[in-house]
Amino acid sequence: MSFSISLPDGSKKEFAESLTVGEVASKIATSLGKAAVAGKVNGVLKPLDFVLDADSELAIVTDKDEAALTVLRDTVAFVFEAVAKKKYPELKLGSHEADKEGFFVDTDKADQIKVSELPEFEKALQKVIKNGEKIEHVQIAKSELAEMFKDDPYKSALLEDEADMVDAYKLGDFVDFGFQALLPNTGKIKQFKLLSVAGAYWLGKSSNPMLQRIFGTAFFKATDLEADLKRRQEIKERDHRTLGRNLDLFFVDPKVGAGLPYWLPKGATIRRVVERYIIDREVADGYQHVYTPVLMNLDAYKTSGHWAHYRDDMFPPMDMGDGEMLELRPMNCPSHIQIYKHHIRSYRDLPFRVAELGMMHRYEKSGALSGLQRVREMTLNDGHTFVALDQVQSEFAKILKLIMDVYKDFDITDYYFRLSYRDPKNTDKYFANDEMWERSQKMLKGAMDDLGLDYVEAEGEAAFYGPKLDIQTKTALGNDETMSTIQLDFMLPERFGLTYVGQDGEEHRPVMIHRGIVGTMERFIAYLIEIYKGAFPTWLAPVQAEIIPVNLDVHGEYAEKVRMELAKRGFRVQVDSRNEKMGYKIRESQTQKVPYTLVLGDDEMNANCVNVRRYGTEEQKTMSLDEFINEITADVNEYSRE
Ligand code: ATP
Ligand code: ZN
Repeated sequence: MSFSISLPDGSKKEFAESLTVGEVASKIATSLGKAAVAGKVNGVLKPLDFVLDADSELAIVTDKDEAALTVLRDTVAFVFEAVAKKKYPELKLGSHEADKEGFFVDTDKADQIKVSELPEFEKALQKVIKNGEKIEHVQIAKSELAEMFKDDPYKSALLEDEADMVDAYKLGDFVDFGFQALLPNTGKIKQFKLLSVAGAYWLGKSSNPMLQRIFGTAFFKATDLEADLKRRQEIKERDHRTLGRNLDLFFVDPKVGAGLPYWLPKGATIRRVVERYIIDREVADGYQHVYTPVLMNLDAYKTSGHWAHYRDDMFPPMDMGDGEMLELRPMNCPSHIQIYKHHIRSYRDLPFRVAELGMMHRYEKSGALSGLQRVREMTLNDGHTFVALDQVQSEFAKILKLIMDVYKDFDITDYYFRLSYRDPKNTDKYFANDEMWERSQKMLKGAMDDLGLDYVEAEGEAAFYGPKLDIQTKTALGNDETMSTIQLDFMLPERFGLTYVGQDGEEHRPVMIHRGIVGTMERFIAYLIEIYKGAFPTWLAPVQAEIIPVNLDVHGEYAEKVRMELAKRGFRVQVDSRNEKMGYKIRESQTQKVPYTLVLGDDEMNANCVNVRRYGTEEQKTMSLDEFINEITADVNEYSRE
């Protein structure tokens, strides 16, 4: 027998007898043998004891390679399982996974594992690591494993996907499978951390039982672990779901309806300010704001093509029993088309700009739902402009200017443009009209080039009715999300038979531009929460000033007077009149990230002054009430810099 192993540098080694990945590494260099963590055999991750006995490609994986982290994290997950099972023999284990974010293990027992237990588990793991226990890689017949796990519904189900002979790993008596490669010895585990516990449905299905998912991570170097923990802390501080809870802005309760958010008074206040702001901006830009129903006859969505191309994202229609089928709208376009069609339009009416804060419903997958970022009921800052063909370019530029001006007001700077085209390999997802697609994609690209703006191009991201310009931002978790969008559409005007009377007295077809400036209220405010870390600029802050009387009995009346003076000028202020210590109230005002905290004692009361603490600074200033009113007024007006 003779076979050859090809290495990544292109060299080949001949062997006469079978040997393991680890042995090949040692033969190449002793140091490589020591550094080896696993091997990639024909592109697949394999453990060091994997036997090579035929021609193959081999890349030795050392701790310098990304794949090594997966091996390390899987190993920690495995050791955690063994330790957990030892502590709680009745515990059932579900899925486990390791990737570039860390690892998780799903567990199930009557009295679920608590976060407070994690340090104890870490200690138990440390002990196993210190003992340098052997992790044995074994091949076990599926039938034998089935017998071993016969009382475990999760492992039995997972076993179904395995081949007849299963790669399994043993640590003492503990056995598990479903890992690509583990380290051969627990002593090789370096830095690890158990991070958190969260509920997770078995196989991600909400009709299945809820298990406890234990998250963790691991690295080869202590500095890498430290940096990662710091990064996680920052994400946590920014995560709009955490801030939404801490600042009492909104909640989503899967028991009441997954993806259906409740806006609490403070979140609702922020939303109201944004809504008023954007309506004013749009009205100033020539839009006519309307209200249209969330329910519409299904026929309209058949005409629009939504039913044919977008049905998976729509809630099922309601059969009213008298032949009428009603649909919860997933988009507002057909509604605005009704507004256009309501009167005969002439070239003098164009561009005809209609806008609405339109509520819509989309049946997003439950696994994709995330706080306010991805929901099932949302209100889009929607608008459609109907233009003549020769107005497309200038209208596009006008909308883009509006978007960029609005971004400036919100201090949004980290975004990029994406031209979203249809997927040429999957054209049946879209309206079939090659010529129109070519033309509109070219027009969009041309418009961006004329404006001299950079963009990326993405195939397969278009709407089913036309290509779009998407403005992409990043969430705290590092995901790209579409915030604003401008879409060219030659299809719906055709489908709904839209016309205008031209200068020549003939009927012409308008082009429709769909656009969202701040996108949905939900996603936009989730984004704002993250970029501001919950510390909203004064014009958006739900409470702009918190008034704290030093002694309620003595200074309460003065506090009320200050509140009235500010409230009548339209500021959102409140007096903290709870029976708590002053220091506690000041701290709370800080944790609630209120822009101004006003402390009122004898000195302030006697001189008609306020003592002002600005959020985020250490400084305290005493000033007259009038001076403060000037300061906060200037602050609130600051956003409209144009
Ligand atoms: P995505 O690709 O993110 O699902 P989309 O391309 O389907 O979005 P559009 O149909 O262009 O989105 O919707 C317009 C705007 O609605 C988007 O720019 C985005 O701001 C927002 N949006 C879309 N889906 C959701 C959702 N599930 N939750 C919150 N906002 C959403
Ligand atoms: Zn639209």
